[in-house]
This record gives sequence, structure tokens and C-alpha cells, in this order.
Amino acid sequence: MEKKLKIAIQKSGRLNEDSIKILKEAGIEFQNGLNKLKAEAVNFPLEVFFLRDDDIPQYVEDGVADIGIVGENVFIEKNKQVKIVDRLGFGKCRLSIAIPKNQKYKGLSDLEGKRIATSYSTVLSKYLKKNKISAEIHEISGSVEIAPGIGLADAICDLVSSGSTLFTNGLKEVEVILKSEAVLIANNNLSKEQQAILEKLLFRISSVKKAKSNKYILLNAPNKNLDAICKILPGMKSPTILPLADKGWSSVHSVVNENDFWDIIEKLKNKGAEGILVVPIEKMIL
Ligand code: ATP
Ligand code: ZN
Repeated sequence: MEKKLKIAIQKSGRLNEDSIKILKEAGIEFQNGLNKLKAEAVNFPLEVFFLRDDDIPQYVEDGVADIGIVGENVFIEKNKQVKIVDRLGFGKCRLSIAIPKNQKYKGLSDLEGKRIATSYSTVLSKYLKKNKISAEIHEISGSVEIAPGIGLADAICDLVSSGSTLFTNGLKEVEVILKSEAVLIANNNLSKEQQAILEKLLFRISSVKKAKSNKYILLNAPNKNLDAICKILPGMKSPTILPLADKGWSSVHSVVNENDFWDIIEKLKNKGAEGILVVPIEKMIL
């Protein structure tokens, strides 16, 4: 039988959809895990396990799964013998300390002797220790944000993205402990075959990520400014130039990075570029 790689992803919750999406964009087809524990990919040697995110680091350490997708915050909190092999760019959030809105806050020392509710007690206690603050940590597994309101704690340490949950619960963010995104973790003792499948998967994921951060750009340029325009456009090797039926004009094609995008458009317009089209790229193989 052909060897397969087993990947654990979140069964339901914030990382579920994007985890499935990144695998599908990598061209891997499988059935989504509604009411199922696992699914087999039809066109790639991969088996997908749908689990609670908290359990994934342990399963990967034990080799029940070979790799997994979890928030970096979970990876750090669980502190298992697994390694991060890629950062996936979704599930971005921060682990922060928040206190009731109307309370004054001058600095960490205000937390001295206070009760802090959290699901991330390991990370929090390390942070407090490092900053020489002694506070009481109340470990709770969910709905941490309501703890101050019901008198269970004076502060919370929880994940924040937009901050709207804090806001609706009358809290304000006062310290950021760590920043997190989804990461791909792997068992430390993969076999050669498993490692080879992982490399293939990583290659595909990197093509998808590159494609997302780049755009294909087409424009019409007056020939007299072609040199200047080509200098502005990096391209994978160099821009493609095709003559237009209209004498004195050319069509220029290239790839630009999202980060420099508006900057480049501005410069192109200044050099007389017209009819600029920007198209998403599906995969980018370098
Ligand atoms: P499970 O049932 O699998 O244990 P959960 O309730 O622990 O799920 P979710 O709330 O679905 O977990 O969050 C999963 C991960 O999504 C978090 O560990 C974190 O990395 C990421 N995340 C991104 N933004 C946020 C946010 N605003 N709040 C909480 N988690 C976030
Ligand atoms: Zn969880």
C-alpha cells in the first residue's frame, strides 16, 4: 500500500474553514469532515483528521497524526515535542490582557495580586513571572470574557482579533502577550517517505501563498517610455512586451507584489501607462 501522510486540522471553529481552504487550493481534494473523524484525499497521499485544536499538538507528538494545523498560541501553550514547518498567514490574532473599561491602568504592576481568568495559563504564568508580577491565575476553558462581569476575575488574558468581543463585554486591552497565526506543525521523527510527501505539500502551499501576495499586471505603454516602464516593473524574469496594432504602443505584462502594488501603479501612470489591468494569480511556481 502506498504510504500516506496524516494531517490533523480543527473540526469546527475559527481555523476549520481556512485549513480546508489552503489544502484545497494546494489542489488536494477530500470530503469536508461534517460528522466525520477523517477523510482521505483522492488525488494526494494525505489523510485528513478532524479534531479539537487543543488536542492536535499531542496527537502530532505521538505520531497519531504526522502534521497538523493549529494557532501558534496553542502550539506555545501546549509545549509539545513538535516543530513548526510553515506559517500559514491566516487565523491572525493576539493573546492579550484586558481589564474593565472604566478602570485606570498605568502598567503591569497594576495587575499585582489580581485574579486573571484565562485558557492560556502556561503562557500567562510565564509572562507574569518574566515581568515579576504575582497574580492569581484562574484557568477556565471558554467564555473567558465574561469572567470580570460575573465577579470571577479582575482581568482576563484571552485571544483578540478585532477587539469587538472585549468591547461588548466592557473590557479594554492593556497588554499584548503574543501575536499568533495558524502554523503547520510536524512530528519530529517523520520517515523519509513521510518527509517527502510533506515537502511536496509545503511546495504547493508556498506556491499558493506566493500567488496570493502577487498580481498579474497588463498595461499599454507608449514605446518611447518602454524602458522607463520596464524599470518600474520587476517581473519574474523581465516583463513580457507585445506590440499593439496601434503603432507606437506596446502591451506590457508582468507580476507585482501586493506590498509595492499601489506605489508601482502610481509610477506607471506617471510614465504614460494606460489601460492597466490587474488580475489575481492562482498558482505561482518559481
Ligand atoms: P476547539 O473546539 O477546536 O477547541 P476553540 O474554541 O478552542 O476550538 P476557536 O475559537 O475556534 O478555538 O479558535 C481557534 C484558533 O483560532 C485560536 O487558537 C487562535 O489561534 C485563532 N483565532 C484567530 N482569531 C481569534 C479570535 N479573535 N479569538 C479566538 N481565536 C482566534
Ligand atoms: Zn480549543
